[in-house]
Amino acid sequence: DISNRVHSRHPLPKGMAFTLQERQILGLQGLLPPKIETQDIQALRFKRFRVDSPPLALRYIYLMGIQERNERLFYRVLMEDIERLMPIVYTPTVGLACTRYGHIFRRPKGLFVSILDRGHIRSILDNWPETNVKAVVVTDGERILGLGDLGVYGMGIPVGKLCLYTACAGIRPESCLPVCIDVGTDNEMLLKDPFYMGLYQKRDRSQLYDDLIDEFMEAVVEKYGQDTLIQFEDFGNHNAFRFLRKYREKYCTFNDDIQGTASVALAGLLAAQRVIGKPITEHKVLFLGAGEAALGIANLIVMAMMEAGVSQAEARKKIWMFDKYGLLMQVNSNQEVFAHPSPGDVQSFLDAVNTIRPTAIIGVAGAGPLFTRDVLAAMGTLNERPIIFALSNPTTKAECTAEDAYSLTQGRCLFASGSPFAPVTLSDGRVLTPGQGNNAYIFPGVALAVILSGVRHISDTIFLQAAKALAEQLTDEEMGQGRLYPPLSNIREVSIRIAVKVVEYVYASGMAFHYPEPLDKDCFVRASVWNTQYDSFLPEIYEWPGTSHLPP
Ligand code: NAP
Ligand code: MN
Repeated sequence: DISNRVHSRHPLPKGMAFTLQERQILGLQGLLPPKIETQDIQALRFKRFRVDSPPLALRYIYLMGIQERNERLFYRVLMEDIERLMPIVYTPTVGLACTRYGHIFRRPKGLFVSILDRGHIRSILDNWPETNVKAVVVTDGERILGLGDLGVYGMGIPVGKLCLYTACAGIRPESCLPVCIDVGTDNEMLLKDPFYMGLYQKRDRSQLYDDLIDEFMEAVVEKYGQDTLIQFEDFGNHNAFRFLRKYREKYCTFNDDIQGTASVALAGLLAAQRVIGKPITEHKVLFLGAGEAALGIANLIVMAMMEAGVSQAEARKKIWMFDKYGLLMQVNSNQEVFAHPSPGDVQSFLDAVNTIRPTAIIGVAGAGPLFTRDVLAAMGTLNERPIIFALSNPTTKAECTAEDAYSLTQGRCLFASGSPFAPVTLSDGRVLTPGQGNNAYIFPGVALAVILSGVRHISDTIFLQAAKALAEQLTDEEMGQGRLYPPLSNIREVSIRIAVKVVEYVYASGMAFHYPEPLDKDCFVRASVWNTQYDSFLPEIYEWPGTSHLPP
């Protein structure tokens, strides 16, 4: 209701100093981070704030403050200037904000569920003031971007992701719920940080953790319906795969780091294929990293190759992975389908490049600039048009810069990065615009389509369709600028077109459960899109026409 809206979604007068009893009695449990804080710490945060806040964090605070004060204004400005503002709300600045989340804390956003709340998650959900939630983005903070375990400081990520649901796909902000699960953190620095906002304990890795996530999933669908979309984000590797396997047939869920990333990377490869004119089946791909992103991308590439007529076994042979322990080979790894017999003596990633002779290298290790000058130069020697994707976030974790990739391949490479890089001017005067290979191109459109068409389970084929729909939208002119993705400034139209394609696909393949089936899918999607014009707060006021109803 309006008065609730006009006042605030969240309690202010004591911030995190509300006691456990107050939180429970006043219906605030979950609306505040789990930490119960003294006024001394609050005062210290306030005193320290001005002296050591980096300018970027200040831009984040300013922008996100507008979201709190006037949501429609915030989204209007974000949408109109997405290319400039997305790097603040999202990678890379959100990464910086997350590392300092407790230091720059103003007012909580999203819902916090801690392991100490086990057995009470439904009552916490009931404290959330919105009744019509359609989409949840949840993290447990264990692998925030490439920054590692940030515990509840990771809340910045679900908040940022859902901002893009609204800005890019026009999904109503009140139907979006950001959630951070707090089971502790193994980050020693945070456990000593007086401003940390979570439980001061090591991560619970016992059965209790699984029970908590189970209870969370059940509570969400019980309250908001079985078709509520639940996006898993920035979970640690092992849990990400486990939960995806466990929940994908039971809930309407996907893992963005595995599946969303796969889709955007495949779209980049499909675009590169258009530029080079070499079918995807003729590529040989070498990954740096063999985690969520790498395996997700690799499996989707295999699906795309199989669609193009190659057998699964043949497709898998074209994909190699190099992780912390070196090349994935059958001798040291028997579970991964991308482990192959030894190709020779490979000690370093450079050796791997020179031995395997890939047409594409994809960096998803989150370990910094490991595409060295030698690696980039070797890719330039091996290929007329090498494909080089440095997808790790934020910028400090990227495998290389756009500048290095272009200059060491004489401007011949097709480059994309997870976080944005500015266009590069080569010594011959050519200007090349790197693509931002970020799942932000995918998840808003997919989410919109899933919500609108009542999809019950999200299959990998949906991400294959989304990748094609994204790659198709690249114009010849944009290709000429070196781009592999449409400009970010178009991301809203791009997301909506992806949603239309996915809606068409899910209806055609019997996965949609929203009836009646809309005849014109394009109209159907566009009609749903939220806009930022202000509503009138007046009740309807009108005159009766004519005078014939009046007494003579
Ligand atoms: P993950 O599951 O933890 O996987 C990381 C992988 O990198 C693991 O295989 C790890 O090997 C390997 N690795 C770590 N250090 C390495 C090193 N020094 N040399 C070689 N390999 C190394 O994480 P993830 O979810 O795949 O994410 C990885 C990165 O991708 C992050 O930076 C993330 O921000 C980025 N990402 C980008 C996007 C995007 O849209 N652009 C989306 C998702 C993720 P071990 O297992 O042996 O440690
Ligand atoms: Mn992520």
